[in-house]
Amino acid sequence: MTAALITAIPDPQVAFEDLYQVPPVENITDTPDEIRHKQARVRQLAQQRNAILLAHHYQRPEVQEVADIVADSLKLSQAAAKTNSDVIVMCGVHFMAETASILCPSKTVLLPDVKAGCSLAASISVESLRAWKAKFPDAVVVSYINTSAAVKAESDYCCTSANAAKIVSSIPADRPILFAPDKFLASVVARQLKRSNIIAYPGYCHVHKTIEPEQVVELLDQHPDAELLLHPECGCVSSCMAKAADGSLPADRTFFLSTEGMLRHIAQSTAAEFAIGTELGILHQLRSKFPDKTFYPVNPNAVCAFMKTITLDKVIRALQTMSPQVRVPEETARRARVAIDRMLELS
Ligand code: SF4
Repeated sequence: MTAALITAIPDPQVAFEDLYQVPPVENITDTPDEIRHKQARVRQLAQQRNAILLAHHYQRPEVQEVADIVADSLKLSQAAAKTNSDVIVMCGVHFMAETASILCPSKTVLLPDVKAGCSLAASISVESLRAWKAKFPDAVVVSYINTSAAVKAESDYCCTSANAAKIVSSIPADRPILFAPDKFLASVVARQLKRSNIIAYPGYCHVHKTIEPEQVVELLDQHPDAELLLHPECGCVSSCMAKAADGSLPADRTFFLSTEGMLRHIAQSTAAEFAIGTELGILHQLRSKFPDKTFYPVNPNAVCAFMKTITLDKVIRALQTMSPQVRVPEETARRARVAIDRMLELS
């Protein structure tokens, strides 16, 4: 089976773990009444500011509940692109706020905590990308949406886990592709499309990397009727694709899906149990939307501290003070918009 070629980090002296700092996860002790009160305050302020609240599936449950839209990166960027609101409150991480700013330069974009970074986005800098491109001058650059605006500005196409295969398949088969920065997603796309000229940057998400094949096998042993839904960023995807191909995992019950893809899949599946391989925040959506089905996390410790920096208190403060704001410089935004628009047109 075809797999992406993984190339070395341009600067081998730098470990990815040195490129970001994982913030502590704040323990919220609010009572249900206090949460309802804060949520009401958020809605009141959002109305006063003519603000839309966009929340990613990995946000805290109480933040998801108060948002106008809860979705994956693709749907959040589509929602940002078409909103009539004056203010976008991004309950997600920094690259998502940047994407909203790129798509809506005239709007105010608030990110309630600037510590909401992303280990995957941090794994590639614009300098690293330029150095990598210089080695492959004929290649087309496809960057995952989990990248900085500056990296998107150096890219030909943007993609998300929901549309990566579609974007790559739109590129002529004889053109080599530099796929950055997620090596696991690159490997899924290469295998799905049976394409051997995808060159993967060796980056990864520190949360999804911890979702391992042994955990998958153990969970499916305990729940043999469960369907297995894995996010393509997971550290186990290559191994699980190989296991599904050789029969050691049930191929007809193993799926590689974005978070939005998981929701769609479960809605039409007759299965009653699901093993879920992604960040734990998605379980709130799944359990609310499908109360008759049972969900088991493959790794119960897969928590993204960056996503959890956003709290109701910080959303309230952001709407009160209209800060922190995220704004991408005009020239970077103009160039990054080309890659994002190409993705949105193909999605
Ligand atoms: S889960 Fe991983 S890829 Fe998603 S925001 Fe957190 S660090 Fe980034």
